[in-house]
Amino acid sequence: MNHTLHPAHIQHQLEQMRQENLLLRTRLQDILEQAHRNQNIMERHQHFDLKIIGASHFEELISHIFSALAITSELDMVTLILLDARTDLQKMLADLRIDLSSFPHLHFIRHSKELQIHSLPLLKPVLGPYQDLHHARLFRCCHKKPRSVAVIPLLRQNKLIGYLNLGSLQADRFQHSMATDFIERLGSIIAICLENVLNNERLVYIGLTDPLTQVSNRRYVEQRMLEEIARARRQNYSIACMYLDIDYFKNINDQCGHQGGDDVLCEVARRIKAELRLSDTLGRFGGEEFVVLLINTSLHDAALVAERIRRSIASSPFALTDGGQCKTSISIGLTVVGLQENFGDANHVAREMLARADHALYAAKHGGRNRVCYQ
Ligand code: GH3
Ligand code: MG
Ligand code: MG
Repeated sequence: MNHTLHPAHIQHQLEQMRQENLLLRTRLQDILEQAHRNQNIMERHQHFDLKIIGASHFEELISHIFSALAITSELDMVTLILLDARTDLQKMLADLRIDLSSFPHLHFIRHSKELQIHSLPLLKPVLGPYQDLHHARLFRCCHKKPRSVAVIPLLRQNKLIGYLNLGSLQADRFQHSMATDFIERLGSIIAICLENVLNNERLVYIGLTDPLTQVSNRRYVEQRMLEEIARARRQNYSIACMYLDIDYFKNINDQCGHQGGDDVLCEVARRIKAELRLSDTLGRFGGEEFVVLLINTSLHDAALVAERIRRSIASSPFALTDGGQCKTSISIGLTVVGLQENFGDANHVAREMLARADHALYAAKHGGRNRVCYQ
């Protein structure tokens, strides 16, 4: 048997091997590039995770979700919906002066039924083409309609807290058949971070809230007073301050018991609040004393509000938890700090404003109570 190979045959085999080698190199190159891309994506997501885990305030977390997630995951739209059945969350954020107007892609709903998304309750992410019927509300704040979407329920201890909604202009970006584990993981991390920052905000809120009446406490009002004085100075308007004190409150405690007194305090706070605008501040300053700040209000308008409060408290009896009733009234001292007076140290202006309102209150008490006096 002749073992010598023909040179042409060798040449052919060599050429074949070269071709195969080239093909393998190209494939390897592709795989390396893909690995590099994956590594890149992973690093971006890790960076995003670290960023949101590190957020300690609600605003910080929300702005990371909206700005960083869209870039990290190459998304065209990101929206967030939070469940807020009794609007407590929105009230707390408003009281903490957290400005939500810079987050047009954040919405609150009372119940998930308000959204017409697929089958409810949605406990797993749903991926697929955008459908007006199901998704219009989720993306109504976006300039364009996405072509494919991922609706991710945010759950904490099996309780739905909201939905994270991802939209892409590419029709094939989110498809029914895709695995959802990565997206579920994203939803879990975001839900944990949301719960964490909201708990932090709640702690701050509790520290600034009067536990009996649920209106702000003295610490909050004093802090807010300084902010409002500075703002009024910048924006050229006056602030009105009321000092309110329930008349003969000791008698209420004596006649209706301490619980009856507490009932009256809560109802007084509620009646005062009912006469105020959202931008006004009401705080319990001590025992049966409250302070109100009216922003951008003249003496004339503030006097009308004070008179409405006085009338609302004196006009109808207070229902007590023991089934009884009692009547009471309130004395109000009022003052207005105009622009010409609002100079110098904000602390000094605040002290001066409170002293004047207190002085006016003293006059109201001495004038016979159940009245409004100005200074
Ligand atoms: P005036 O018309 O001069 O304001 O008389 P007053 O009785 O309202 O004023 P005074 O300051 O003498 O009494 C305030 C009372 O408020 C005394 C205190 O026991 C009571 N008080 C303070 N804090 C609370 C509270 O949290 N709950 C209840 N039930 N009573 C309180
Ligand atoms: Mg008092
Ligand atoms: Mg009193």
